[in-house]
Amino acid sequence: MYGLKLDWMETPEAPYYTLEDYTGPEARWCPGCGDFAVLTAAQRLCRDEQLAPEKTVFVSGIGCSSRFPHYMKTYGFHGLHGRALPVACGIRARRPDLNIFVATGDGDCCSIGSAHWIHAVRYNMRMVVMMFDNNVYGLTKNQTSPTSPEGLRTYTHPRGAPIEGMDPLQVSLAVRGVSFIAQTVDFNPQHLLATLTAAYHHPGFAFVRILQRCPHYTPRAFAPLQENPSMMSLLVHPDGIDGGESMTRLFPNRIEHDPSDLRGARVIAEAEQGIPVGLLYKNDSVPRYDHASASGLSATREDRVKLLEQQLDWFRI
Ligand code: SF4
Ligand code: MG
Repeated sequence: MYGLKLDWMETPEAPYYTLEDYTGPEARWCPGCGDFAVLTAAQRLCRDEQLAPEKTVFVSGIGCSSRFPHYMKTYGFHGLHGRALPVACGIRARRPDLNIFVATGDGDCCSIGSAHWIHAVRYNMRMVVMMFDNNVYGLTKNQTSPTSPEGLRTYTHPRGAPIEGMDPLQVSLAVRGVSFIAQTVDFNPQHLLATLTAAYHHPGFAFVRILQRCPHYTPRAFAPLQENPSMMSLLVHPDGIDGGESMTRLFPNRIEHDPSDLRGARVIAEAEQGIPVGLLYKNDSVPRYDHASASGLSATREDRVKLLEQQLDWFRI
């Protein structure tokens, strides 16, 4: 306009979000709980990706880890037991613009929420699912969970869990529509952050199982892995998760694995030896239910009324 540039015409600079912009009240987990490491990783991810807090939502069910949304200074939804995923799918169905993260535990996801979990994998709606697996029900004080290993002594099985626990990787990889499955550990912050970052960039349902320490009830569940990292196998590939140079030292055992190989991923998940750490499977071209549910979202009010009247006309006698 005549070469004039007035102050009120300038576009405001986009804000730079710091870690404080994502940090909520002090987390109330037991000292040494692995949930703290995941919370830090999630806050770093939000900062690194500069996710607008008002466009980001953390959804959870019930459990220790499901307190997660309270500790993020973003939007959050602390739901019912096992219902984190249907809530997150509902949000995604109407809000393609939001960054959606789900915090769920082994009890929440693999027991009461198992049907929702399987269908959420199948729907492949875009979101990051952080499945905190500490092999036990922690919040309700030490009951056998679906992933508790055989022999684990809990209050529900004081003589030890009588059967072997389920493997969430194997279950997820068996579902048609699976598009992103990774495993990481809370005691390796670099790999944890790299995994969540890869999950965030995945255009679909990214399921991350996090082996999570619970020093209160299952203190020995993952201690052997920390003491002897050769019990784990780092999955390496140019299309995999790049945790940086230090991964070589931290994970002496490595397996070359192409994450586009679904059969190979299933074989790795079923192997008796070597707990896999890294990206098991990734497929960007799996159809997404949220693409279907987004149809019509941009319709005007008039369009919607017109369509509704057309539908009602079907019932005219
Ligand atoms: Fe963490 Fe276990 Fe304590 Fe729950 S009971 S807060 S999982 S250490
Ligand atoms: Mg648990």
